[in-house]
Amino acid sequence: MKPLIKLPKSKFVRVVCRKCKNEQIIFTKSATEIRCLKCGEILVEPTGGEAIIKAKILNVIS
Ligand SMILES: [Zn+2]
Repeated sequence: MKPLIKLPKSKFVRVVCRKCKNEQIIFTKSATEIRCLKCGEILVEPTGGEAIIKAKILNVIS
């Protein structure tokens, strides 16, 4: 069994929105913008390579 895509740096992280303190689980290698489900603040901004996490990281899940 071979994985289709190897993404060694990809991780799920638990973050908290800086604006409304809403907790959300996000994927760090997201190719699309991730917004806070509560207030719409941008939590992750894609750059083509590494995504920029704008929210505060609480912990890494995997
Ligand atoms: Zn928010």
